[in-house]
Formats: sequence, C-alpha cells, structure tokens
Amino acid sequence: MQRDIFRSYSKWEEEHPKPANIFSEYIPLSCHDCGKDLLPHDDGIIVFKVDRKSDTYSAVVWCCKGKCDRNLKEKYNAMGLLDAGWEDISDILIPGKYLSWNIAILNRIQEGIDKYNDEAFESLKQFILRASQMVLKSQNEEQIRRLMDLSTIPDYI
Ligand SMILES: [Zn+2]
Repeated sequence: MQRDIFRSYSKWEEEHPKPANIFSEYIPLSCHDCGKDLLPHDDGIIVFKVDRKSDTYSAVVWCCKGKCDRNLKEKYNAMGLLDAGWEDISDILIPGKYLSWNIAILNRIQEGIDKYNDEAFESLKQFILRASQMVLKSQNEEQIRRLMDLSTIPDYI
C-alpha cells in the first residue's frame, strides 16, 4: 500500500511540480468556477467574502484571476456577499508566507477581528490542507509507517 502511494506520486510528478505526499493521494485545489487545478499554476487567488450585515466571513473561495473571479463575484454579490480581501495563491505557497499568513489568520480570530461562519471556516481549512501539499516536505516511508501506527494520516479532505 505504501509502495502504491509512492508510485502514484511519481506518475503525478512527471506532469506537475512536486507536491508533498501529505495525503494518501494528491488532492487538487480546483477553481470554484472552472474546476482547473490551481496548485501547479501561478494565476490563482483566494478570496474572502464577507456578509456585511453580520460582518462575518461567509465564504472563502479560490479561483483563476480574471473571468472566473468576476463570475464568482457576481454570484456571491447576488447572495449579499462582498469581497473583503484576496491573496495570490502563488504567494501563499512560499513557505515563509504560508506560515505568516496562517499565523495572522489565527491571531485575527483570537483577537476577535475576524469572524467566520461554519462554511467559510471549513473552506479555509480545506485551502490550508490542499496548499500544504506544495509547501511541506514529503514524508519518507518510515514516517508514513509511523503515521499509520498513529492512525493520524489526514483523511478528512
Ligand atoms: Zn477558473
């Protein structure tokens, strides 16, 4: 089973920049509008949508810049959600930026500056998990075996 994990990763790596083998298989970060995997490309953004009435983040989406972003803006505006901030995904995939971005999010929640509804918070976690495949280093076979012993292989995506 562990061999299969490595085999499927080497096949994937032929066509893409190397993702780390954090999960049992590669999980794409699919554009919310067109479905394109944004992780191997550098034209994606993550956008935070806020419900101005409750001042709560009510959606966190990722998409291609340009047309897909505009389509989603229209869709969410009709639901009363406005863009409250965005980041280039390629910036967040820089390890130092990934860390400082995650810590800033935690700080803003702790300080009561940012509020998320359940859906937006779940989306944010899904983004962090998927992006981690391009930021973290790969696990070796011994570490994967140990993870299996600990039963902590993340399978909640
Ligand atoms: Zn797209």
